[in-house]
Amino acid sequence: MHQYTKKELVDLITGKLRRNFGRDVDEATNLHMFKACAMVLRDIMSERQMVTEDKIQRTHARQVHYLSLEFLMGRSLMKNAYNLGVVEPLKEAIESLGFSAADLFESEPDAGLGNGGLGRLAACYLDSITTLDIPATGYSICYELGIFKQKIVDGQQVELADNWLGLGDAWLIPKMDEIETVRFGGKVEDVWENGQHSIRHTGYDTVLAVPKDMEIAGYKTEHVNILRLWDAKSPVPVDMSLFSQGAYLKAVEQKAMAESISKILYPEDNHREGKALRLKQQYFFVSATVQSIVRKHRAEYGTLRNFHKKHVIQINDTHPTLVIPELMRILLDEEGYGWDEAWHIVTHTVAYTNHTVMAEALECWPQDLVSSLLPRIWQIIIEIAKRYQEELTTYFRGDMGRVEPMAIIWGGNVRMANLCICACYAVNGVSALHSDILKKDVFHDAYVCTPDKFKNVTNGIDHRRWLAECNPELDLLIKECCGGPKYLLRPEALKDLEKYKDDASVLERLSKIKRDNKLAFASYVAKESGIILNTDAMFDVQVKRLHEYKRQLLNVMHIIYLYQNLKRNPNFLTTPKVYLFGAKAAPGYHVAKEIIHLINSLAATINADPVCKDKLQVVFLENYRVSLAEKLMPASELSEQISTAGKEASGTGNMKFMMNGAVTIGTLDGANVEMHEVLGDENIFLFGLKAHEVTEIKNKGYKPYEYYMRNGDIKAVIDQLSKGFDDGVSYDNLTRMLLFGNGSAPDQYMLLADFESYRAAQLAASQTYLDRKRWNQMSLLNIARSGIFAADRSICDYARDIWDVPVRKI
Ligand SMILES: *Cc1c(COP(=O)(O)O)cnc(C)c1O
Repeated sequence: MHQYTKKELVDLITGKLRRNFGRDVDEATNLHMFKACAMVLRDIMSERQMVTEDKIQRTHARQVHYLSLEFLMGRSLMKNAYNLGVVEPLKEAIESLGFSAADLFESEPDAGLGNGGLGRLAACYLDSITTLDIPATGYSICYELGIFKQKIVDGQQVELADNWLGLGDAWLIPKMDEIETVRFGGKVEDVWENGQHSIRHTGYDTVLAVPKDMEIAGYKTEHVNILRLWDAKSPVPVDMSLFSQGAYLKAVEQKAMAESISKILYPEDNHREGKALRLKQQYFFVSATVQSIVRKHRAEYGTLRNFHKKHVIQINDTHPTLVIPELMRILLDEEGYGWDEAWHIVTHTVAYTNHTVMAEALECWPQDLVSSLLPRIWQIIIEIAKRYQEELTTYFRGDMGRVEPMAIIWGGNVRMANLCICACYAVNGVSALHSDILKKDVFHDAYVCTPDKFKNVTNGIDHRRWLAECNPELDLLIKECCGGPKYLLRPEALKDLEKYKDDASVLERLSKIKRDNKLAFASYVAKESGIILNTDAMFDVQVKRLHEYKRQLLNVMHIIYLYQNLKRNPNFLTTPKVYLFGAKAAPGYHVAKEIIHLINSLAATINADPVCKDKLQVVFLENYRVSLAEKLMPASELSEQISTAGKEASGTGNMKFMMNGAVTIGTLDGANVEMHEVLGDENIFLFGLKAHEVTEIKNKGYKPYEYYMRNGDIKAVIDQLSKGFDDGVSYDNLTRMLLFGNGSAPDQYMLLADFESYRAAQLAASQTYLDRKRWNQMSLLNIARSGIFAADRSICDYARDIWDVPVRKI
């Protein structure tokens, strides 16, 4: 593999500056310089990608197509430099041209084409898929505006547009010769000519899908894959006929309609969005993708009969479900296959990953919307639903009580998860617990019908980004203890660190690394916000999307409890703490926004109270995103993973913390269960109800008011919430939800039921922290046993259990 030197990179960068920006180095701004560096790496990857593509064609290799409405990529300059093995020469090249490499890396905007865990997972998987030499393509939408930027004004969230493309498009290569067209609306008719049946679709609107390809380099391999982002364009620049008739607005309107499809990412996390524009996004994305795969397949093989042998389409949650009817449409209407043959191909091509069991997140689309927007797709869904229903009715001998919940169309809605379960050859959950709940509960009857379809692939994270790149000192220590850099391709090698669990000098070194990372993070926060963090205190961190089920409010209640006791007794807290929060709330999610306001009200009160000085501090970090997480994970000591058991499908934040040596305080939910399995009771602070206990209490009737009446600590905290803090804002609404639920059912997240055991676990963590040796040892064991949570392991599982593709021998 060619090793680029500083000199070569200097030449390439200065060449870019001259040819693309018409500037010499001394006239270039930081912006020019960033773009030039990005384009130089892009060119290197682009050439290797062509070689990769040739090889795939030559060998007729089976390919993976990973479809996701979200890819939360974050920054790419460091990632690509790292994977290409040019971090050092690139830094030197930048410095020798008179720029600060650190500033340049820091100037890159995050590509925020996702909301949270689901989108970040897709990004980590692209890295591992490519590193493992799997021929694969990711597909998504080239949103002009990614996840909003969050500002906190007077304690409350304000959303700002995230216009990332100004700089971010340096990574994108438009492929104008691979444009696809997507049809919406219109009328479909059956046509019979000479005994031949065909479908005539008329009166539709056309939208162009322009591919903008992002190159994905693997680590220590020449293999390069692509993330294909579809940009929506109107087929006519502006309708000139309307224009000349003086219908200026109408002409512009049409264009704006088409282009609105890729305008913005929907900012709801773990929640369905029922807007027509969202359905348009889904079909636009899926139709362009399937057409693009089919076009290349036809060119290579001249037939689609072997399509399922050469491709697997993995769909990330139900958002891309329409690939199923869309591929059917192409096989039926364009290839002229019969239903059974088309169905065979589709049902051996598509595999589905489920990400949630929460009712409010399960997608269903009103049939009126589907039929008017996608008339042909609607006909195909009806036929799939009818055949499935017949099959199920036979299987369950007419027991409609069991058939009805599995129906694809019911009560005027299309249920996307049921369509996936019917048509996909594999259905996987994302942690052992979650996959179990799918089988035992949510999709039990589907599991009974087709048990072999159901699999588990526990999520994982890109340990190169989330350990080696973001925590270089820890990376160095691991290389010294675990046989050099081999852990970067063999994450299991992290376990060699365990040999040093009683080695005082290694534990001391680990402790110093954490301390230095805390100092670095504190100086970043000081620079950004002016807030001075107490670096002598334990950094207790909860960063993730704001959601009731994630229970940021439980964390807040406990902080209020600490504060009330500290006011009564200044010696109450033996371990000083800094509570750090970071979370975006969906703009329409009022309760979530109230909780953000509450955190800020509480923070203002606590941070201004002299009794808390050097003991208790609360900070809400604005605009939590990938690049902030990369700075924060290495500095974290206690990881808050406190969702109501049974609600968090996996979590991946939990893994990032663990890998960086934070100890977890958490419930037995999602992948925490598997973390506990490798750590044992003694290296994690577990608390709270188990998933089955949550169900049992729900069935018996959860009575939060009894906890309030019986437990004085809970009562005091709840009363304080009603009263509010120094700013005079009352959080009565939250109090009511905790005590009385939403009016029709008691609080389904059961905060009061878990409060007491959470308090005890917090106390245990604080006391353990005082035993520095013990704490450092826990930290070391967390890192040493985190190897199973590397995305490389997840991708090997997918490759073996679902995709049937070979991976690089390492
Ligand atoms: C990892 C990550 C998440 C997912 O965090 P969870 O705690 O698993 O919900 C969300 N947002 C960002 C920016 C992340 O990096």
